[in-house]
Amino acid sequence: MQHQKDVAHLFKRVKSGHVKATKHFYASDTCIGCGICARLCPANAIEMLDGRPAWVKDRCYACLGCLRGCPVEAITYGMHEAD
Ligand code: SF4
Ligand code: SF4
Repeated sequence: MQHQKDVAHLFKRVKSGHVKATKHFYASDTCIGCGICARLCPANAIEMLDGRPAWVKDRCYACLGCLRGCPVEAITYGMHEAD
């Protein structure tokens, strides 16, 4: 359910013309470090650092590939406090 809310939130931001800021992406502790998100990203915006994805570019294409491709739905968008 949370995953669907995140996708809807991202769609809304893209549709409204808001910047596709990768700073809103976050991988939760359920991440298993598979690297699929990094391999899927057409913008090369994700790198695996210490076994966890890091969004290393400020902008991306908002293709939703990482959100949809994560096998454990670990990626959230815009729903976390900055560390
Ligand atoms: S939404 Fe698409 S372009 Fe943006 S970080 Fe995820 S996979 Fe990469
Ligand atoms: S696809 Fe999901 S589980 Fe795999 S590294 Fe990315 S966030 Fe972690």
